[in-house]
Amino acid sequence: VKEFELIDRLIPLLPGNKETLVGPGDDCAVLDVGVPGKLLLFKTDAVVEGVHFTQDDGWGRIGRKAISRALSDIAAMAGEPLSALVTLGLPSDFDFERVKDIYQGIQERAAMFGVSVSGGEAVRSTQGVFLSISMVGWVPQGRLLLRKNMRPADALFVTGDLGGSRSGKHLDFIPRIEQAKWLADRFEIHALMDVSDGLAGDLQRLREASGLGIELLSEAIPVSKEAKKAAQQGGASALNRALSDGEDFELLFTVPASVAVALLDAWKERFPDLKLSCIGKVVPEKEIRILSRTGRFTNLDCHGYDHFQ
Ligand SMILES: [Mg+2]
Repeated sequence: VKEFELIDRLIPLLPGNKETLVGPGDDCAVLDVGVPGKLLLFKTDAVVEGVHFTQDDGWGRIGRKAISRALSDIAAMAGEPLSALVTLGLPSDFDFERVKDIYQGIQERAAMFGVSVSGGEAVRSTQGVFLSISMVGWVPQGRLLLRKNMRPADALFVTGDLGGSRSGKHLDFIPRIEQAKWLADRFEIHALMDVSDGLAGDLQRLREASGLGIELLSEAIPVSKEAKKAAQQGGASALNRALSDGEDFELLFTVPASVAVALLDAWKERFPDLKLSCIGKVVPEKEIRILSRTGRFTNLDCHGYDHFQ
């Protein structure tokens, strides 16, 4: 059973209550805990040795990555992170100095965003190290930038560059908390999410949540120099790496097409060092299609592009 299939099968089994405004299926759960003007964001995310990192990555960076992933999901709701719990699974012979390095990495990113680590636990693991971070944050009442909220004819934007994150970005990225809040404060954002599974896969999540489709312009997709470099060594094309490598942790969002130009102008002024690209538009047909340089449309699935050629 694939991860997303598994989740689809589990969702009907999950209980809700009247305080849970948004349950599974978005970047964070949203809870109304009775605080005037605010809603609580709630998230959990795990990294596992051999799946998300190897020992060679360095323990400090692994800690940093683990908490940054949860922060990226708070950013994907344009939220303000508040506090985290850490569950650490360790083999019985694990060296305490390494545990300290992991926590140093966590502490570094937490401090950057004013997040406390308010508890957690350590458990014994029989198969390598794992690290699970749960996080809460706030979002102003009325600001629900959910995936299902995208609308036909919206312009689709993505921050930064995509692909090739395995060469280091997946460990060192800075969650787009500041950028997401800035966007939500100033512009009518319809749908917002972070790119974690690769653009092609995450577009499928938008499609499923909204019942709408997307037309991408292949030439507008910001391909990272790491993806271009990897493509020169053979295998998948740079474009397909940008579509399907994953772990980019950039922001993906839609706005009314009428504000696209004003948004690009304001962004350039505020974040001159971070690219913002308009990569396509929302369409009523429930498909993800990509328009090639030669003017040909190809359907895209969650694996990207090349295998259709
Ligand atoms: Mg996410």
